[in-house]
Amino acid sequence: MKRREFLTASVAGAAAGSTLAMPSIARAKDSFNWKMTNMYPAGAPFYTVGPGSPTDFCERVKEMSGGRLNIKIFAANELIPPKEGFDAVRAGTIEMNAGNAYYWAGKIFAAQYFTTVPFGLNFQGVNAWMYHGGGLELWNEVYKPYGLVAMPMGNTGIQMTGWFKKPIKSIEDFSGLKMRIPGLAGKVYEKLGVNVKLLPGGEIFPALERGVIDAAEFVGPFQDRRMGLHKAAKYYYTTGWHEPSNVTELMINAKAWATLPKDLQAIVKSCAQACNLDSHSWSEANNADALTDLVKNHGVIAQSLPQDIVVKLKSITDEVLTEKAKADPLTQKVHDHFMAFRDKHRSWAAISEKPFHTLISS
Ligand code: CA
Repeated sequence: MKRREFLTASVAGAAAGSTLAMPSIARAKDSFNWKMTNMYPAGAPFYTVGPGSPTDFCERVKEMSGGRLNIKIFAANELIPPKEGFDAVRAGTIEMNAGNAYYWAGKIFAAQYFTTVPFGLNFQGVNAWMYHGGGLELWNEVYKPYGLVAMPMGNTGIQMTGWFKKPIKSIEDFSGLKMRIPGLAGKVYEKLGVNVKLLPGGEIFPALERGVIDAAEFVGPFQDRRMGLHKAAKYYYTTGWHEPSNVTELMINAKAWATLPKDLQAIVKSCAQACNLDSHSWSEANNADALTDLVKNHGVIAQSLPQDIVVKLKSITDEVLTEKAKADPLTQKVHDHFMAFRDKHRSWAAISEKPFHTLISS
């Protein structure tokens, strides 16, 4: 190589080296190793592995960020017990937690509205409220004093009333039952004399099987079958009054969130939205087959709740929600916001989805 060519090659090499070196230095400062705790234990259906699950979310973020945001996920009890995610993320010892906002009812009663509301909004409706109806902004306004950021990261779609060891023939049959049921629907059941148990996901099957509880709800046919609930109770009531959809919560420490560059924040938001859609689609694609299998092959008696019971549940729900909202200004604010949107969405559904469903079922 002539001297001139050698110099040119060296300069080009140095230049290439420097341009390669610069992003790697920038990347070193730009990489994050975070921890996410999950409210649900290892193996819990829907909330651990599978399309749109918290584990899937962490994998998507890692892949899309080229490994710059690496979130290590811990199932319930691996680092902390299931219901300590709020305090751990608030303290900043954990950057993220996966779960459901209605488990924080003891700290913020209004948080329950960001998971599900009995006779509230379905998947389409709750997403419309969250993304384009001010729901997400309101959720973050409610969490701001706690140093927390939140967003939807999954949705089960419409859920089933649940599993009962004995048939429900009248509203009085609920009285005295010990039932696993979280959230605002639990407050409705309390009015009916139900002994409400707020068991986390991992404790539902053993409690129902051993008779510690008489009834339980979890999600829907596909996920409930994976949990084995049909082995512990045979009466499956299918009316989705109590949880017309159910939002999986991604909770983030606000200070940690502020340290993320804009592109990583965008990746987190986009992956959370993708998981919201994918988790719902996964359940929706499998529920019909699962329900058929439960009835045909596992002796499950699946039926809707009698209409007079549903009517009564609706009026008690209105009464309970109004009463609880009156007792707390923040709950009243969230309640009014949610209900205004629900009524607006309901009026649209009445002239769009409702006639369509009537049409296809006739
Ligand atoms: Ca549920």
